[in-house]
Amino acid sequence: MTEPAVEPARAPLNTPAIILFAVSTAATLTVFPWYAWAHHLGAGAWSFFAFCMFAAGLSITAGYHRLWSHRAYEAHWSLRVFYMLFGAMAFQNSILIWGSMHRVHHKNVDDVDHDPYSINRGFWFAHMGWMLRNYPSAKLDFSNAQDLERDPIVVFQHRYYLAVALGMNFGFPLLVGALYGDPWGFLLLGGLLRLVVNHHLTFFINSLAHYWGRRPYTAENTARDNDLIALLTYGEGYHNFHHLFQWDYRNGVRWWQFDPTKWWIAGWSAVGVTRGLKRTPEFKIQRAMLQRQFEKTQARLKACAHSGRLAVLQKLLEHELEAFYVTLNEWKHLQAERIDAARKQIAGQWENSEARRRFRALEESLRLQRRRVRLLRLQTV
Ligand SMILES: [Zn+2]
Ligand SMILES: [Zn+2]
Repeated sequence: MTEPAVEPARAPLNTPAIILFAVSTAATLTVFPWYAWAHHLGAGAWSFFAFCMFAAGLSITAGYHRLWSHRAYEAHWSLRVFYMLFGAMAFQNSILIWGSMHRVHHKNVDDVDHDPYSINRGFWFAHMGWMLRNYPSAKLDFSNAQDLERDPIVVFQHRYYLAVALGMNFGFPLLVGALYGDPWGFLLLGGLLRLVVNHHLTFFINSLAHYWGRRPYTAENTARDNDLIALLTYGEGYHNFHHLFQWDYRNGVRWWQFDPTKWWIAGWSAVGVTRGLKRTPEFKIQRAMLQRQFEKTQARLKACAHSGRLAVLQKLLEHELEAFYVTLNEWKHLQAERIDAARKQIAGQWENSEARRRFRALEESLRLQRRRVRLLRLQTV
């Protein structure tokens, strides 16, 4: 993490973004309440609002983010067209710009000069401020997105972005609304209100998810895991996990964690629309969590330097660390065996053998050790 830099010279205003945010927010606070008061908004219009919320939200999280920015899985062209259309509805710029900038965010996370939406420049800056001016930290450079430039769906959307975005925000709600006999109600709910709510929910990932929550996997950056933020962001609130394992199609990696984006991607894989879903090996996840436990326990031991039991606890911790390194070494040997088996083309045989059981045993030993280290830390209170 870098220290906040001296405020750079005032960057030029980003007028189109300012107009978009000002007009949509002002209309949501004035025109929408007036219309809702003067006219009846029926179940059809509210259902359309819910559909657009999910379609546009998931197109950003499952499409723009996990598919195009991180290549966490592959998707059939029909699903990519869906993401392209409803992602444009979310009005957050083209896939190419969004994906390229997001890759820069991961590479330079928290750096005040190179992370386009660094939380170290303040909550407001990370949430929206970074879009209101053309800051040098958000300078476009597609050299990190050459794979995206090879996707014809991405290229089409980038070329005709304004037409697609306006069509999806105005044309689509008016058309569906006209079929239901309430074009203005559908436009105000599915177009306007949905746009403003969608904007802020997604922006929370850059602001709140780098600000509030726990860090179970890494303290190397500001990204946090937060169940409440996950509820608001289609599962993107498990941002601490995501920043360490960005290629994983899951953000909420545990079965009980609310990650509808993960369920959506996995659901489509059952019928072959998505495939090649990338998962971080469980051992690596357990290793990261245990390393965090060691860090926290060491910090706690340092803080209670006068405890009478300090020497005993320190000895126990050293013992646990030694056991940890032994497990890591065993895992490395096992990995080498797996690679060797793949080279000799007997991987299938090898995977079904004793080795699979040994992998599971190592994962379990890390799990148990994590509990022991946690208990050890609790004794320092
Ligand atoms: Zn982030
Ligand atoms: Zn990401």
